[in-house]
Amino acid sequence: MDKTTPYPQINALECKSCGRCVDACPKKCLEIGNELNVRGYRPVVYKGEGCIGCASCFYTCPEPYALEIHIPKK
Ligand code: SF4
Ligand code: SF4
Repeated sequence: MDKTTPYPQINALECKSCGRCVDACPKKCLEIGNELNVRGYRPVVYKGEGCIGCASCFYTCPEPYALEIHIPKK
């Protein structure tokens, strides 16, 4: 993954697979993953490209520690 552009980092243990971030992302670059975490949810995954760092996913996520956005320094 290109770390010179913005990207979301998902904490797979905290994600409850609610899908709100998937719906909120204007670039459609998040999706529900295929793997179950130890709590029985399928955490969201980043498709690997397309993120513009808008943070819509971060602000719509009800889980405090499930998602953060990395914005590279210029
Ligand atoms: S920061 Fe914006 S573009 Fe990037 S994954 Fe979140 S909602 Fe999508
Ligand atoms: S909004 Fe948060 S808890 Fe819901 S699927 Fe996205 S990262 Fe997971």
